Amino acid sequence: MNNTTEKRDAFSLLELLAVVAIIGTLSALIIPRLSGNSTNAKIKTCFHNRATINSTVERYYLDQGVWPADNLSDIGADINYFPQGISTCPFSGSAYLIDPTTRRVIGHKGTDGKGTVDHY
Ligand SMILES: [Zn+2]
Repeated sequence: MNNTTEKRDAFSLLELLAVVAIIGTLSALIIPRLSGNSTNAKIKTCFHNRATINSTVERYYLDQGVWPADNLSDIGADINYFPQGISTCPFSGSAYLIDPTTRRVIGHKGTDGKGTVDHY
């Protein structure tokens, strides 16, 4: 009997353990990156929303001659300025407010389950 020409029908335990170890190492590297990017994307979307609201508030002031309410209730209900309504913070879900002195959108804190992140 010649062992070198014997046909193998299955993987050995050592081969399976090596594959499981490689998959485990790769997922340990990749999964934290994916979840971190989700948080960063939400914060960047919040900055984008605030920039859009700031420019729309300035346009409202130029059109109407008065600043909108600090809680944006009047401009938010006007379909000429926000046809789809004012968005909320994608990170914390809180509504946007206007600083009464600077007339700019106030930054806020958000909690994503892992902790609190300020994004001003
Ligand atoms: Zn936010």
